[in-house]
Amino acid sequence: MTDTPSYPSASAGLQELLPPLTQHEAATESARCLMCFDAPCTHACPTHIDIPRFIKKISTGNLLGSARTILQSNLLGATCARVCPVQELCEGACVLGAEHKPIAIGRLQRHAMDYVYGRHIDVFRPGKPTGKKVAVIGAGPAGLSCAGELAKLGHSVTLYERRDLAGGLSTYGIIVLREPVEVALAEVAMIKRLGVRIETAKDAGVDPPIANLQKNFDAVFLGVGLGSTPALGIPGEENILDGLQYIEDSKHRHAQLRVGRNVIVIGAGNTAIDCATIARRLGAERVTMLYRRTENEMTAYPHEYDFIKREGVTFWFLAQPVKVHHENGTVQALECVRISLGDPDASGRPSPKPIPGSTMMLPADQIVKAIGQHKPALASLLNLETDKGFIRVNADFETSSPGIFAGGDCIRARGAASTVMAVQDGKLAARSIHQRLAKGLVNHG
Ligand SMILES: Cc1cc2nc3c(=O)[nH]c(=O)nc-3n(C[C@H](O)[C@H](O)[C@H](O)COP(=O)(O)OP(=O)(O)OC[C@H]3O[C@@H](n4cnc5c(N)ncnc54)[C@H](O)[C@@H]3O)c2cc1C
Ligand code: SF4
Repeated sequence: MTDTPSYPSASAGLQELLPPLTQHEAATESARCLMCFDAPCTHACPTHIDIPRFIKKISTGNLLGSARTILQSNLLGATCARVCPVQELCEGACVLGAEHKPIAIGRLQRHAMDYVYGRHIDVFRPGKPTGKKVAVIGAGPAGLSCAGELAKLGHSVTLYERRDLAGGLSTYGIIVLREPVEVALAEVAMIKRLGVRIETAKDAGVDPPIANLQKNFDAVFLGVGLGSTPALGIPGEENILDGLQYIEDSKHRHAQLRVGRNVIVIGAGNTAIDCATIARRLGAERVTMLYRRTENEMTAYPHEYDFIKREGVTFWFLAQPVKVHHENGTVQALECVRISLGDPDASGRPSPKPIPGSTMMLPADQIVKAIGQHKPALASLLNLETDKGFIRVNADFETSSPGIFAGGDCIRARGAASTVMAVQDGKLAARSIHQRLAKGLVNHG
């Protein structure tokens, strides 16, 4: 049982994996913190939340003050508390981790966030109006963070979102076991209460056209994320399910989601692991992840790999799909070819080379592909300079087109993309835009 009221819940089937901390647990855990000076955890957090400070406030029972400390650095603190790969970030840097258990920073952050959201407390108010107008495209973590920070500074912000609901992958792509939809939507509602006008079902670039946005707004921020899952280009592919859609269905259309008994997930990144988790938790007897390289090249976090193995998911490494066998659309097997690894390719990883005559048949009644996402389409539409297909920005998060800024997954040409990094991009871009607007440098009017 928790001592704090929780978010209204509409999710069925899958529940958040970790229970909230009770007040007693939060008090005990926060009392373990050494309150390090120049704390390594704060450096390791991409948004640089003053972690010892927010934990100290929890230990003295000041949950509102704790939430304020978190939100000052990270407006999406409730999402990040749940989805951050804390083992790689703040908790991985905790000095207690060397000999004891690191402080449960993520769960303490969630405790403080649940306190304010559970009681409908608004920590910030809209800033004094500046008369400047900014358009933000994409209501994922990057766009919401940028929009919210600009609204706090008094700018008039309109946020355009293509989907029916705002929140980006927090709403549509992150599995309920990690983050229920209601948490993402509570943050969207908070950003709205800061004065941000959110227009959903608007495909910016098409409606409204970019030229209009540049004419009607003083600056534009692109937080458009990445695109859909690329094609494998194999016969029978139309019978393979899309991993992002599979996850979305598990969040929003749970009752209609059909999970196979013998499921193959193609891919070995974090999205593939999420698909395998859903299949397993929703009743698949056998789930196999298929990857054309080895576990050494997997892009999934090590703790996610350990988790999925504990879930009973098995792996086929060094195998590549070549054909889906089906009868009238009912999947029967995935034909694969064995792979040997050659010299590094453009990604820097050993290139997979099919071994002639090594085909094999893997029986399956459902196949899901989770092999990454297309690069942002708006980059070419706007003729923006790119880096490996991602939008190129300078140190101020400004693209090659003056007055158009960008952040989040759409600029992340290197390293793993994460929600907290998108939040930080949005925050820093908002500061750059604010400085420019204050100097009157950005104006397309
Ligand atoms: C399956 C999956 C699981 C993940 N799990 C985790 C996790 O556990 N922890 C973690 O830290 N990270 C995770 N990530 C990564 C994380 O979700 C992203 O890094 C983060 O959402 C990036 O935020 P963003 O705002 O840049 O993009 P997005 O969240 O993708 O949001 C972009 C938004 O822009 C909208 N948009 C695009 N084009 C237009 C347009 N022309 N007009 C209007 N709107 C537009 C899109 O509809 C979308 O809502 C996961 C990613 C995936 C795919
Ligand atoms: S935002 Fe993420 S990385 Fe930063 S302190 Fe919170 S849980 Fe850790």
